[in-house]
Amino acid sequence: MNIITTADEMRAWSFAQRRAERSIGFVPTMGALHEGHASLMRAAAERDGAAVASIFVNPTQFAPNEDYSQYPRTFDADCALADRSGVHTIYVPHAKAMYSEGYSTYVNVERVSEGLCGKSRPQFFRGVATVVTKLFNAVQPDRAYFAQKDAHQCAVIRRMTRDLDFPIEIVEMPIVREADGLAMSSRNRYLNPEERTRAVCLSRGLFKARTLMESGERVAAAIIAAARDELKDVEVDYVELVAADTFTPVARVEGAVTLVVAAWVGKARLIDNIKFEDCNA
Ligand code: AMP
Repeated sequence: MNIITTADEMRAWSFAQRRAERSIGFVPTMGALHEGHASLMRAAAERDGAAVASIFVNPTQFAPNEDYSQYPRTFDADCALADRSGVHTIYVPHAKAMYSEGYSTYVNVERVSEGLCGKSRPQFFRGVATVVTKLFNAVQPDRAYFAQKDAHQCAVIRRMTRDLDFPIEIVEMPIVREADGLAMSSRNRYLNPEERTRAVCLSRGLFKARTLMESGERVAAAIIAAARDELKDVEVDYVELVAADTFTPVARVEGAVTLVVAAWVGKARLIDNIKFEDCNA
């Protein structure tokens, strides 16, 4: 495994790939890798001549009362999973180098980052946009792979990539789920067996709402109520139907929409979503 820890080394690696006429595929992660991350790495390894993943638990996207210090760190297992998934170079910057003494510059993506997780976690998208900018500058990829699991984050990064003229294609990959429907997440490790059983209600609620949309329901309130009906045993942060590109709430299904949910199950805050497109709209 080729482990790179500084931005200078990272840029030198990317320069060498480009000189060898290999396109660069990049998968940013916070580690504690699972099959969801592996699917992104396999896609990058298959599509691009050179694939690199980053592992960085980004302090600026966590509020002081959140789980930054407890976030699972499983570096050796992560390297093994990346290797198995066809990614043999990992960028692991140090937090002190990313945010050196006197650090003062943040990227703020207006409007699209304001609702949902942007409201519940006001520091979150600013931290994400800032770290992704810094990672893009170090890696200089041709393509960056994200997943629908964090659909709102994808919308923010797409907007930022366009607005700041990054010459990078943003690829959005599907959500990988456990056999019972629970979306894979590094934070699922926080769940005890009883919470793990309850957590499946997030995907169950989303699937039930999707069935309703497939049968013709177009009123957001009815669709949200169907999902909420399954969420009685967890502490719901939000359930919203939003336009897929802008993440603004909609009253009716028209065009592409995303039904998003965030809920606390024990000390784990879990998010999930489904997309739906009304082809007759
Ligand atoms: P994270 O390590 O949680 O920051 O996630 C890194 C990348 O993996 C993001 O693009 C996530 O959307 C993606 N990811 C997380 N969970 C899944 C999943 N269940 N299926 C597919 N991709 C995922």
